[in-house]
Amino acid sequence: MTQDELFKVLVAHCKEYGFIFPSSEIYDGLAAVYDYGQMGVELKNNIKQYWWNAMTRLNENIAGVDTCVFMHPKTWVASGHVAAFNDPLIDNKDSKKRYRADNLIEDYLGKIEEKMNKEVEKGRKRFGDAFDEEKFRQTNPNILREKAKYDEVHGRYVAAEAANDLKEYRQIIIDCGIVDPISGTANWTDVRQFNLMFSTQISNTGDADDRIYLRPETAQGIFVEYLNVQKTGRMKIPFGIAQIGKAFRNEIVARQFIFRMREFEQMEMEFFCRPGTEMEWFRKWKETRMKWHVNLGMGAENYRFHDHEKLAHYANAATDIEFNFPFGFKELEGIHSRTDFDLGNHQRLSGKKIQYYDPETSESYVPYCVETSIGVDRMFLAVLSHSYKNEKLENGETRVVLSIPAPLAPVKCAVLPLVNKDGLPEMAQDVMNELKFDFKCQYDPKDSIGKRYRRQDAVGTPFCVTIDHESLNDGCVTLRERDSMEQRRIPVAELRAVIDKEVNMNNLLRTL
Ligand code: ATP
Repeated sequence: MTQDELFKVLVAHCKEYGFIFPSSEIYDGLAAVYDYGQMGVELKNNIKQYWWNAMTRLNENIAGVDTCVFMHPKTWVASGHVAAFNDPLIDNKDSKKRYRADNLIEDYLGKIEEKMNKEVEKGRKRFGDAFDEEKFRQTNPNILREKAKYDEVHGRYVAAEAANDLKEYRQIIIDCGIVDPISGTANWTDVRQFNLMFSTQISNTGDADDRIYLRPETAQGIFVEYLNVQKTGRMKIPFGIAQIGKAFRNEIVARQFIFRMREFEQMEMEFFCRPGTEMEWFRKWKETRMKWHVNLGMGAENYRFHDHEKLAHYANAATDIEFNFPFGFKELEGIHSRTDFDLGNHQRLSGKKIQYYDPETSESYVPYCVETSIGVDRMFLAVLSHSYKNEKLENGETRVVLSIPAPLAPVKCAVLPLVNKDGLPEMAQDVMNELKFDFKCQYDPKDSIGKRYRRQDAVGTPFCVTIDHESLNDGCVTLRERDSMEQRRIPVAELRAVIDKEVNMNNLLRTL
């Protein structure tokens, strides 16, 4: 299966098994808005719990908040979103499709990189153990030709970005022969800037100054509550404030399922520190966040850092943690050193003093801040795309299994009476009643046991417990494990401990 096909299959699987539905589907859906179904909401909650506990329980100096979607309009002037939260968009006149001009150029550069990597792989195969990649990259004529092309376009792109030169964006697209993947033509409009914030009105008078925005990031809620949390929580610098919540962006290109949505959820943590120490904290949070990801066991090779060359107006250092999605390595999380930009601007615009008195240095200052920001939905997609497997079994059959890390799995244990009679359902219900206080369980009495196992595999349930006639006599059940498909008999009394060992979120937190 190509990566593209895998992605399509995944989207269909999400719908079929109650993970994700297109929003308002009975009205033919709403572009780039998705609803989470009965399985999806459990997985999503588990992801949030893993993050929330890692932040607010494992760090005594990180407090949580839950602030509102609506904020005073001045917030977005202070944050720079009113003036600068824009994407450069371009339309293809033939297909009538809209694209982000920067993405078109980045994809083009990505393809050149891919070509160079393929050339390297060919060399590796040809020269075997004697292969020296660095030397090969410096001497191979095909790579040198591609590299020169890459450097030229990349140089122009960075300069255009820095100068916000929209004409140059278009010229690069034309000069590189970038065509619309749908129409295949280079019949492009001019590039225009487009502000991504949604707006609505807060009162019913209809006055223009009633305009209010739906927050495009949760971080600003943290900044405006900084003083309240610092004072009431008696927080001492360095300390952090964490929040999980909805954010809204009127994305221009929204064709990548839940990777890029117009309504999505973020998990953000702002870490406040003494000016001058921010680089140390930036490095620390880069390392900490990477560890959080790798700890899930989805393969360290599937993550990489991508340091930003061009920094946002508020940052003095920034990196992305990228994940190997079915459509390539893309941003999963951003880590930014935001200096005193946000608190400083809120202080200026509100006229309220937002300062910290540092008893160690006897100085007052606006704290500096390092942000870690991850999309819940992107994390969901990372987990699901990595977990989806179409396996060929020894008996020639195939099965679809989601090998979701057990503590994140929507359902931890399925309870299955072998037949729906002879006292087996009653015993199965007793087992359910025993386990349901500790784990999300599912009771399923219908269809052959093989079919029921497949259904649970398809939603990633780590354990199935089967109750048969023998169970009534010996008080033992068959415990089947999802990934190995191994089955063993164990006493009902031991079930809780055996399942808990694998699925308990605390075990995951302990290895951080
Ligand atoms: P991108 O470059 O992909 O648009 P971004 O750099 O604008 O992302 P940030 O503003 O740094 O993203 O937001 C932090 C995180 O929020 C991202 O790493 C991503 O996980 C998530 N995120 C941002 N925009 C969206 C969206 N439209 N849909 C889903 N998740 C999003």
